[in-house]
Amino acid sequence: MTAPIALNDITIHPVAEQEGAFFDALGFFPALGKDLLDENRAWLRPVYLDGDDRLVLCIQSFVIKTPRHNILVDACVGNHKPRPTRPFWNMLNSDRFEKGLAAAGVTVNDIDYVMCTHLHTDHVGWNTRLENGRWVPTFPKATYIMADRELAHWTQREKENPQSVPWITDSVLPIIAAKRAKLVKSDFVFDDLIQFVPTPGHTIDHYSVLVGRAGTDALITGDMIHSPLQGKYPELGMMSDYDSAQAGRTRRQVFDRFCEEPTIMCATHFPTPSMGRVRRRGDGYKFIAIAD
Ligand SMILES: [Zn+2]
Repeated sequence: MTAPIALNDITIHPVAEQEGAFFDALGFFPALGKDLLDENRAWLRPVYLDGDDRLVLCIQSFVIKTPRHNILVDACVGNHKPRPTRPFWNMLNSDRFEKGLAAAGVTVNDIDYVMCTHLHTDHVGWNTRLENGRWVPTFPKATYIMADRELAHWTQREKENPQSVPWITDSVLPIIAAKRAKLVKSDFVFDDLIQFVPTPGHTIDHYSVLVGRAGTDALITGDMIHSPLQGKYPELGMMSDYDSAQAGRTRRQVFDRFCEEPTIMCATHFPTPSMGRVRRRGDGYKFIAIAD
């Protein structure tokens, strides 16, 4: 498990639910192609790519502890959730997420806010848990902060074809029904320590979370990047992007902003340690992981 990082009086604790090789790299990045993979295999292995050319990914959340609040950013896959198209996420029954919270020194009762960078299945699962056959908010005191256009987009998808987005039905709409959601713009300023950075493209209204004060800060990326390969090739889209061209522009913009800064990137899907700094390299960017 990756150690927490401290930004003066704030700490950020990774809470991993899974880490492993789930997706074939060529399918995950449809424009990658065999030649480019051949060219990059050596530096990707073994940390980012396994022996069968599957990407090694972490499924994780981050707990931010500030002097005022305990905040969870994203909520992994969750337990007891039918995900028929993703066998490795189907009907999970694991205590790893809960143990991760405990390692961060919190329980579900201590979380004041849940920030949803976007509404994909591996980021909203623990929003809810099963209680007497009903999906109820997992974090009884928390307000869940979602981007307004993101929610509108997925609510409409669910209305048109609920079978295609079961995670919206069981992990997002129950939060709305329980009146626990706060809808904001994706450039929302939460307080003087936390603000959202709009990072659209992977989804329609995706946001990343900037934590701390200038000079001592961190960016929780969410899914604006999935692999350091998308640092080297910022235009490399992934299979579930809403708009890959926009996602590419977003990556360039964000990396350009932070590549000469001490800002620590908490890259949600990067394998352990998922935290590091981004630096310019050639026409792209490299990721330098902090020591585990
Ligand atoms: Zn994801």
